[in-house]
Amino acid sequence: MGRKEDNQPLECGACRDSLQEYLDGTLEKSISLQLFLHLRDCEECQTEHDELQSMFQLMDSLPEVPLPADFDAKILASVNYEGYRAMESIRRERVPVFLEEAFLPALLRSRITRWGGLGVSALALVSQFTIGGSPYLPVVVAVGLVPEFLVRMQGLGRRFVLAGQTGS
Ligand SMILES: [Zn+2]
Repeated sequence: MGRKEDNQPLECGACRDSLQEYLDGTLEKSISLQLFLHLRDCEECQTEHDELQSMFQLMDSLPEVPLPADFDAKILASVNYEGYRAMESIRRERVPVFLEEAFLPALLRSRITRWGGLGVSALALVSQFTIGGSPYLPVVVAVGLVPEFLVRMQGLGRRFVLAGQTGS
């Protein structure tokens, strides 16, 4: 009890994380001692320790099975290179990342944003001619068009790139 100050009490999580190393005997001496003390007081961790230990012992008792000499060759032969090559054209049919739909933020791509922007533009355009000219209305018109413009230009660019790929 008097050593509690220098020895931080070990928590169950930390104890179980180190159980394997504890059993292997690769832990630092002080940590190993902490585990020993925790295991003595904690029934659950002790059970975990016992199970792990008997599993290790079981694995150690298993006879060693030598790998067949052609093991590597068999693994390599099972890889489907032909299928991989056959998909070459599909893999190549890709567009630059800035033309991928996901390149634009989802918020900007959403219909609400695009149509809302168009609505704002239209409203500003109408105001420009009805209520009277204002220096900032053309700016509003332009800004409102940005989302729709970006989405359309991206779609166009994508179609262009893909058309070029199938043609070559
Ligand atoms: Zn514990």
